[in-house]
Parts: sequence; C-alpha cells; structure tokens
Amino acid sequence: MIGWFAKRLGSRLNSKVIKLEEELLEREDAIKFTSDSPERMLFNSKDPSTMRPPVRFRLLPKMIRIMNPMISNMNQSLRSLDENPTDPKRRVDGEFIAKLEAYVYEIGIDDIAYTTLSRDLIFKDRAVVFDGGVIVLSMEMDYDKMEKAPSPDTQKMILGTYNNLGILTNKITTYLREQGYGAQAGHPLGGLVVYPPLGQMSGMGWHGLNGILIGPKFGPRHRLAAIYTSIENLPIIEENEHAWVEDYCYTCNRCVTACPGNAIYDKPIIHENKSRTYIDTKKCMSEFLDNYGCSICIKVCEFNRSDYYEIRTRFMNIKE
Ligand code: SF4
Ligand code: SF4
Repeated sequence: MIGWFAKRLGSRLNSKVIKLEEELLEREDAIKFTSDSPERMLFNSKDPSTMRPPVRFRLLPKMIRIMNPMISNMNQSLRSLDENPTDPKRRVDGEFIAKLEAYVYEIGIDDIAYTTLSRDLIFKDRAVVFDGGVIVLSMEMDYDKMEKAPSPDTQKMILGTYNNLGILTNKITTYLREQGYGAQAGHPLGGLVVYPPLGQMSGMGWHGLNGILIGPKFGPRHRLAAIYTSIENLPIIEENEHAWVEDYCYTCNRCVTACPGNAIYDKPIIHENKSRTYIDTKKCMSEFLDNYGCSICIKVCEFNRSDYYEIRTRFMNIKE
C-alpha cells in the first residue's frame, strides 16, 4: 500500500510539474540553461521501496498529505504564467519597493533581497521566462523543531516551511502581476535555479560549507525561494558583507564531521567556470529521504545556535 502511495506521489510529480517545466523550454521567451548549468537532484530521485522501513511506514503517508498541496502550488507557479501582463512594466520606484516589502513582510516572509539572473544558475534542461531582476525570499524554520533533527517532527516542519513559502511566493507573484509587472514564481522545493548562489548574489548571506546560505537573521535555518521578474531596476546591493563566513567555515568544519551521509566536502570543489560544489547531492538526498529530512548540518551549525554578529566579533578578534 505504502509503495503504491509512494509511486503515485512520484508519478504525480513527474507527470505534472516536470512536464510543465519541460514545456518552458519550448516557449519563445524562454531564458535557458547553459552548458555550465548544474544538474538538479530531485527529492523523489530515490526509489521509495529502498527507504529504511521506519521512514517508509511512518513518514511517507504524512509526506503525501503535505506534498499534495505543495504539488498544486508548484503547478500553479507554472500554469499561471499566461496570467502575466502582455506588455509588462520594467521600472520600479522607491515608493513601489517600500509597498512591496511592507506587503511581503506582512504576509509572513522573513527576508527579501534582490539580484540579477545568471543563466549558469538555471538547472540543466530548465528555463525561466523573465530576464529582469530576481527577488529572493527567505522563510525561517522553527528552532525547537530543528533541535530535534532528525525526527518526524523536524521533517514535518521542513515540508511545512516549503509549503508555506511556496504559497506565499505564488501570492507575491500575483501581487506583482496585478501591479503590471511580469513575474514567475520559483517554488522553494526543487526550483528552476540554484538558490544559495542567488541568495549570496543578493547580499542576503554567504554560502556555508553545508551548502546553505548563512545569513544574520537565522544562520542556515531557513528556506529560499525566488521570483523572476520583468523589472530592470530592482534595488540591488552590489557589496556583500558576509564573505568572512567562508573563512569561518574553514576553521569550523562541524557540519562536515557531523554529516551522517559523508556528503559535505571540507573544501568546495571549484569548477573551471568558477562555480562551486559544496555537497555530494546524491549522498545528501539519500540521507535526507531516509533520515526524516536529516538537517543535522543545520542543527549543528554555530550560526544556528549563536548570534551572527557575536560570532563575527569573536572571529575577527581571533584573526587580529
Ligand atoms: S542534510 Fe544530512 S546528509 Fe545532507 S548534508 Fe546535511 S547533514 Fe549531510
Ligand atoms: S557548521 Fe561550521 S563549517 Fe558548517 S556551515 Fe556552519 S559554520 Fe560553516
């Protein structure tokens, strides 16, 4: 029975979301991946029948309950593209940005920042349809539930965060369209573009060794989503004040040691095109699916437990 549910979940994803994503490549306005683009690892890439029995029997039914609305939201983000204005506006002013940010925080997003789209960050065989500015959104994950990682409670909270962030990303996309702008929602789960480098480009934080964007608000304890827009003059901050996090990570390595899947490299692999790989995603995904969403690398991270600015002061004092 569980196997039937799991297969059904996988095939729903494959048949709907994946098909809609592939159709984007056929559009005239498609902004496509490049030869340097990374492969995307799907969360349903593991055969459910090979999952550890406790996960198969206890977690999958819950996952299916949460995944169903999530899949509807992913579908909505792709199906609603034709609701964009035919000749979308391309410029914003300070007043509009203030209004947008007030709305975004009011509905429950925890952080917002802006950047441009790099085609190298679009996943292989994927496309988006706007090449203007990108809005990066972050939603905090619950501290107490994260402390229990890995556990069914943590897994439920993680999937709940994905779901809530996906709903709000669609809502903000609709808001932008109503104001005359072109917008495409990037769902936090899967997504069409790699989010942590986007987040880093936006100045929201810096890529930690655990493969997650580390920022002052919640350290690595958050999820990211993006909205691709027609807007050409989003208030992008060129400077990133969080680059020191990289040096800190090399002195820490806590997540590398704690990772039960041996998935975190102690130094990122730097490719010819300068892109970086921090995690063996295959190994991580296997553990994520088998071990209640794992997330040990978030739980043990110093930035999850202590204040970002206190860590920075301590670190700078040691370095001097
Ligand atoms: S989620 Fe788990 S397996 Fe994946 S990188 Fe983090 S600690 Fe390792
Ligand atoms: S646990 Fe340490 S090495 Fe890993 S991301 Fe956090 S600060 Fe960096």
